[in-house]
Amino acid sequence: MNKPAELKLDTVPVWINGKALAPSGRHGEVYNPATGQVTKRVVFSDAKLVDAAVQAAAAAFPAWRDTPVLRRARVMQKFLGLLEKNQRALAEIISEEHGKTLDDALGSVQRGIEVVEFACGIPQLLKGEYSENVGTQVDTHTLRQPVGVCAGITPFNFPVMVPLWMFPLAIACGNTFILKPSEKVPSASIRMAELFKQAGLPDGVFNVVHGDKAAVDALLLHEGVKAISFVGSTPIARYIYETGAKAGKRVQALGGAKNHAVVLPDADLEFAADALIGAAYGSAGERCMAISAVVAVGAAGDPLVKLLEKKAQRIKLGVDMGPLVTRQHRDKVAAYLDIGVKEGARLVVDARKQQTPQEGFYLGTSLFDQVTPAMEIYKNEIFGPILIVLRVKSMEEAIRLVNRNPYANGTAIFTESGGAARRFQNEVQVGMVGINVPIPVPVAFYSFGGWKSSLFGDLHVHGTEAVKFYTRTKVVTTRWPHQDTPAPGFDMPTLG
Ligand code: NAD
Repeated sequence: MNKPAELKLDTVPVWINGKALAPSGRHGEVYNPATGQVTKRVVFSDAKLVDAAVQAAAAAFPAWRDTPVLRRARVMQKFLGLLEKNQRALAEIISEEHGKTLDDALGSVQRGIEVVEFACGIPQLLKGEYSENVGTQVDTHTLRQPVGVCAGITPFNFPVMVPLWMFPLAIACGNTFILKPSEKVPSASIRMAELFKQAGLPDGVFNVVHGDKAAVDALLLHEGVKAISFVGSTPIARYIYETGAKAGKRVQALGGAKNHAVVLPDADLEFAADALIGAAYGSAGERCMAISAVVAVGAAGDPLVKLLEKKAQRIKLGVDMGPLVTRQHRDKVAAYLDIGVKEGARLVVDARKQQTPQEGFYLGTSLFDQVTPAMEIYKNEIFGPILIVLRVKSMEEAIRLVNRNPYANGTAIFTESGGAARRFQNEVQVGMVGINVPIPVPVAFYSFGGWKSSLFGDLHVHGTEAVKFYTRTKVVTTRWPHQDTPAPGFDMPTLG
């Protein structure tokens, strides 16, 4: 008798207390988007399995919190070395499950590794403040203490980088962690858990569960989880923030985006067009910092659209740009071509007229011109290889347009004028700004995060804001009485 097909597939396990576990129960399917084939199954965690992960993380917390910070940093350094050694293998896993090209995947792993490099400096980052003699014979100092068991929920588009924005810093700060990566790209997280163990991380400090809403809700509602970091789409980010905060947790929830690039007539248009092509179509547009809307100011419009048209048509599917992550997502993105045409936008480059591999979830490049803010192709985050161009008369109009959009993750301006760039950076209501830089993703020692509907919560990820998110400050006021010390009084102490 033939075995059922699913039994021939590898199963991506969960990782709890330093062990890979693959219990029976609900499973999901993992695809290779380049072939359209199911390649693996992934364990979907229920509340019981999530509880086992939380119990393991809670049990590991006291010893890890009390591990001297230098020893924690040494584990980070070993992890860093192992990630560097395995960079290519991790990129191959990403490429196979997400679909992005290997070079693009390698770059994204590198950006994640840089966060681990930053986390190696944790002894310096956790130093507190000290003030002597704030009152007579009274001193005050601050402590930064870990919050406890933290959880991270991540999207499909950066299977290594986005998890690395979260767990290395949380763990370096002395917390323990449960990661719930996207069920579409689950394997890289398990590989990172193995490498972290190999680096000397005690069992239970880092755990990975997989699954969908059921796993996420179990984390959100578990009273053992003290802080949640989320990256994904805006409706889910809002839900995570509201539900987590209501359950008494610290939450940072990064959402979706519609990133505008404003091009002034004085810009080097050839340079701007090259930058925009990479930023719009790289990773098939499945980047939260992708440029998806170009705002062409005045005379920049016609020549810029011509350049974009020529360059977008040159992109080779399977070489420069991979497939989209799933068939459903590809079809949803492709549907925007009909929508845009119906709305009256001018379709300058049409993916449907390009040769596309028969297998897999490929979609070519598309470019719309003469788009207006009322159109659905402007209002929605398409998250695919469709770039739209809006025309405006002045920079003031461009800034007003950007500021009216509910998303505010990243934006860029292309100009030769320092004065215009300075005004743009001051007035634009967006969290990350590029000046002649199309994708201004901050380096690891700065913090990443948008404004408005692109981030719910106060603190951004990585950099020093992450250290604040993953620690609580305690202020200690000390007096060591001796014979001259005034007796404590009954009135409000002024310490003077
Ligand atoms: P998504 O919101 O569908 O999923 C993100 C995570 O939430 C996944 O782990 C998923 O399993 C979980 N999830 C999905 N539906 C849920 C539900 N109903 N309840 C609870 N959990 C749920 O996002 P995605 O499609 O994986 O990723 C693409 C989105 O992520 C885009 O909107 C993109 O802009 C955004 N993104 C944002 C950033 C940023 O830094 N702001 C970075 C990367 C991606």
